[in-house]
Amino acid sequence: MTRAFNFSAGPAAMPLEVLQQAAAEMTDWHGSGMGVMEMSHRGKEFMSIYAQAESDFRSLLQVPRHFKILFMQGGGIAENAIVPLNLSRGGVVDFVVSGSWSQKSLKEAARYCTPKVAASSQASGFKSLPAPSSWQLDDDAHYVHLCTNETIHGVECHSLPDLKALGSNAPLVIDFSSHVLSRPLDWSRVGLAFGGAQKNIGPAGVTLVVVREDLLGHALPVCPSAFDYRLVADNDSMYNTPPTYGIYMAGLTFQWIARQREGDLSGVAALEQRNIAKAQQLYHCIDHSQLYVNEVDVSCRSRMNVPFFLRGDDGQPLLDAAHPRNAAFLDGAKARGLLQLKGHKSVGGMRASLYNAIPLEGVQALVEYLRDFEKTQA
Ligand SMILES: *Cc1c(COP(=O)(O)O)cnc(C)c1O
Repeated sequence: MTRAFNFSAGPAAMPLEVLQQAAAEMTDWHGSGMGVMEMSHRGKEFMSIYAQAESDFRSLLQVPRHFKILFMQGGGIAENAIVPLNLSRGGVVDFVVSGSWSQKSLKEAARYCTPKVAASSQASGFKSLPAPSSWQLDDDAHYVHLCTNETIHGVECHSLPDLKALGSNAPLVIDFSSHVLSRPLDWSRVGLAFGGAQKNIGPAGVTLVVVREDLLGHALPVCPSAFDYRLVADNDSMYNTPPTYGIYMAGLTFQWIARQREGDLSGVAALEQRNIAKAQQLYHCIDHSQLYVNEVDVSCRSRMNVPFFLRGDDGQPLLDAAHPRNAAFLDGAKARGLLQLKGHKSVGGMRASLYNAIPLEGVQALVEYLRDFEKTQA
């Protein structure tokens, strides 16, 4: 069978070239006589894989030298605890609640510190981002948490807030799980960024933390040693055994990203152009149809995750996943090799995730299907 276009929100599609290279190197990495999964994390072979992955990520996203890049375990959800354990000092922390993920982060943080809701778009169903000028930032906050791409609600922060200009001295903590490496990042506005790998980077099991050095060394006494950023950083992510194979796969993905070109652009800048084009095509199709609807404010629609609903005969969004029209849509998509379009169970409907590994042709095939399916429903 030919490979399908896979729109999963995560774990998600990976570039075919990366998978093929990993397959070719599976049993014997570079003549070492062993596969990467079988190597000691302290041997020179894996150390070289690690060093390359770290330096490639740093150059792709232009991470300044005063930030540490950590490869950890636990995923984004574990970081909801690990961040407050390391940064909150058990005190006040500000949260911008812009969707399910930031809401979850706030709930978990409450076990370790005193989270305050600086702003929330919950009342309007998470269809927009609260304007930074309206955030009620606390003078005593140890950091401000912001999920820069809400994977479930399809809301993306297209430019990072300047907390200093808003009168806050707290560092900004961003959850960039679902759009890391899809666009450049302004590190001057960030104190810490974290994300799981399984959206834009590689297999589940690797968690990336990029942290400004001055924020290290303040973990609460109850913080598990393996999750103390200071210890992890001092040991080059080898305080405990890191997820070695996942780091290797992430490294292959970083090299794939570095090879990407769009006109004069390369790397992340090229992917950003491509991601803009991909998202535009899909939103344009949805907005110009009678059948499909995406209700997110145009200013903060996600380029990565596009949730949408089919309408019923009464014109209302079909929230019920089991509705025959939804089922027919998904069956027809699958028959064309368009996979995993079902929306998150908490919101229903559909969701197309357009991560880096989805080529423009994948979006074009999806748009063609959306149009064809709409004709069958007229
Ligand atoms: C997927 C995701 C997570 C959670 O990742 P886990 O690996 O399940 O812990 C956290 N935040 C965002 C924004 C995500 O998209």
